[in-house]
Amino acid sequence: MRFFSPGDRKPRVGFFKFSCCTGCGFQLAYFQKSLEDTLKSFDFTFFRLASSSGTPEGPFDLALVEGAVTEPYQIIELKKIRANSAVLYAVGSCAITGGIPAIKAGVPEMEVQNKAYRTKLYGLTSLRPSVLGDYVEIDGSVRGCPPGERDLQEAMVSVLFHRKPEFAGYSVCVECKIKGNICVLVAEGLPCMGPVTNAGCGALCPSYHRACYSCFGLMGQANTAALKGKFRKLGLTEDEIERRFSLFDALETKK
Ligand code: SF4
Ligand code: SF4
Ligand code: SF4
Repeated sequence: MRFFSPGDRKPRVGFFKFSCCTGCGFQLAYFQKSLEDTLKSFDFTFFRLASSSGTPEGPFDLALVEGAVTEPYQIIELKKIRANSAVLYAVGSCAITGGIPAIKAGVPEMEVQNKAYRTKLYGLTSLRPSVLGDYVEIDGSVRGCPPGERDLQEAMVSVLFHRKPEFAGYSVCVECKIKGNICVLVAEGLPCMGPVTNAGCGALCPSYHRACYSCFGLMGQANTAALKGKFRKLGLTEDEIERRFSLFDALETKK
């Protein structure tokens, strides 16, 4: 398999979707500003949302994959994408933590199917949700729901320069402090998930006096026990706390 070398040709990109709202694809295709010039350095040979032409067969220098795995055929497709791609990045919370599609993880699959569909659908084969990393090796995770322009830019540039992408490994609180925001958790008693949530959004919600609900997912070594204790002191019930922590990390919290 031959992949690009600098000066040779534009790197070929395939964008793939599994179970999700397609918001990450929309974000990349239609809601970028400064990233537009960077994207011109790539040849998007498969991106169904942006063009009906192109083939999913590859080979790709970069595969961007959004969505959780919730059906058996997706496992086969994912392995095929991996085999045909030099670099594979998981894009968005659905692909990285399970995100919204994983909310059903704590409920038996048959119960979910019976609740979701009024009539029996023959051939329904949904699975307990899982993340891309459960089935294939991934080279990077572009966090967010959807990811922000900065991280998308870093992901794309890292491929152009043949290096590992560098993403923030600290909490949203760090970004919040850099911005000089007044802390809504301390000052207003709002149940902000910023202390345990991976940075990358630029503390978007607290910048508008809203509590973070952790759409970028939990960061590594998050002190979840301390924040849960704080939420109890604020008067949240155990159910409310569980829902807050499992909204984007159900696969971790409902193991
Ligand atoms: S991560 Fe969020 S925006 Fe992206 S596909 Fe999943 S639900 Fe949609
Ligand atoms: S508002 Fe939230 S993210 Fe900002 S410093 Fe306070 S707890 Fe952290
Ligand atoms: S502040 Fe929290 S909920 Fe808001 S965009 Fe950032 S990570 Fe997502």
